[in-house]
Amino acid sequence: MFPVPTSLSPSRVESFLSCPMAFRFASIEKLPEPPSIPATRGSLVHRALELLFMLAQNERSAEAAATSLATAIVEYRADPDFTNLHLSEAQAAVFFSEAADLVDSYLRMEDPKSVRDIGLELRLEAPAGELSLRGIIDRLELDPEGQLIVTDYKTGRAPSANYEQGRLAGVHFYSFLCEALFGRRPARIRLMYLKTGEVIEATPSAQSVRFITTRTTAVWKAIEKACQTGDFKPRPSTLCGGCAFKQWCPAFGGTPELATVEATRSFAAVVAG
Ligand code: SF4
Repeated sequence: MFPVPTSLSPSRVESFLSCPMAFRFASIEKLPEPPSIPATRGSLVHRALELLFMLAQNERSAEAAATSLATAIVEYRADPDFTNLHLSEAQAAVFFSEAADLVDSYLRMEDPKSVRDIGLELRLEAPAGELSLRGIIDRLELDPEGQLIVTDYKTGRAPSANYEQGRLAGVHFYSFLCEALFGRRPARIRLMYLKTGEVIEATPSAQSVRFITTRTTAVWKAIEKACQTGDFKPRPSTLCGGCAFKQWCPAFGGTPELATVEATRSFAAVVAG
């Protein structure tokens, strides 16, 4: 028997659907996870763009973007998500240069001077039945007609067409939050894939927002049942290669009950370097 979560975010919903066992380790048992280069690089780029957008619209030049990234790098050099990667100076130089490439790619996708942002890194939470849904919106803005636009930066690869709607489900989640909290449904939701320069867009409707609450409630019921029965099934996939919990996964001969003690010990070893 595990405690049932009372709130869900889009990433938690997708994590449970991808692999209930990994969800148990990460979100129910809350095992410490060592930072990864892609995740830390993504956070660094998000921070650089947040700093850029904190400037007045007409000050958001390419030079300002470089300065914002430099400021973010100074912050991250002291952040455990970076220091626990234990990169050599040469590896760190590659890491920062890849972050700079993503910021440059962003600048080729749109002119930040043209964006009328009204919120950055917004932490939103709204009730949906017995549950609370929450999420962080990278950027909320107004289009020329004064309609709300939700923008989410992605630093990984764009999904194939088969997975596109799954990714958009997370952003429809944000449109539910906007409607619940601001009383207005966004006119558009956009995923900006900085690596490839692709933008995936969707127009939320009453139906898509309703779909999010129905889908999330169904996922939450499945999580509740798994918490009550302790039956979190492993779902092997290509994600297993990068899974921090593979050694305790029964699909690979591991024992989940050993995870809490051993994960804490191995995380302490990572921190110690
Ligand atoms: S190794 Fe694969 S199946 Fe096992 S918990 Fe991780 S993602 Fe799930």
